[in-house]
Amino acid sequence: MRKNFRELVLKDFKYLEDKGIELLDVIVVEGDIKDFPHDRDFAMSIYVSEDKPIILKYSPKLLHEDYGTIWGIIRHEIAHIWFFTQGDIIDHTERQTDRKAEELFGTPIFYDSKYVQTIYPSKYTIRPHHLPK
Ligand SMILES: [Zn+2]
Repeated sequence: MRKNFRELVLKDFKYLEDKGIELLDVIVVEGDIKDFPHDRDFAMSIYVSEDKPIILKYSPKLLHEDYGTIWGIIRHEIAHIWFFTQGDIIDHTERQTDRKAEELFGTPIFYDSKYVQTIYPSKYTIRPHHLPK
């Protein structure tokens, strides 16, 4: 899955590039399982500073998820990066991020029964209220 995974991620970045949507530079790195202590933590995007690339770090356990979850997680992170690119580092919510992912990629973000994002139709059509905003 590791090779496939990188192809899936690159495809999404390429898709936006082809649509003329600009993003800050991004480095995609595999993190350590310890960086993702909660069951539903699979990825994070870290804004370091103006002159450094965004770090999109994913958990090795993401490699074992299906394509729907991989895309759901990655598109949500890319939407965070879109907000970072607009200069909005901390003012956008997780719900706004999901809506932006849908706008960018044309696929809604669903949440499965474990509250994990997926682009495959699943249990919740919007981010459940009890999750971090
Ligand atoms: Zn998020």
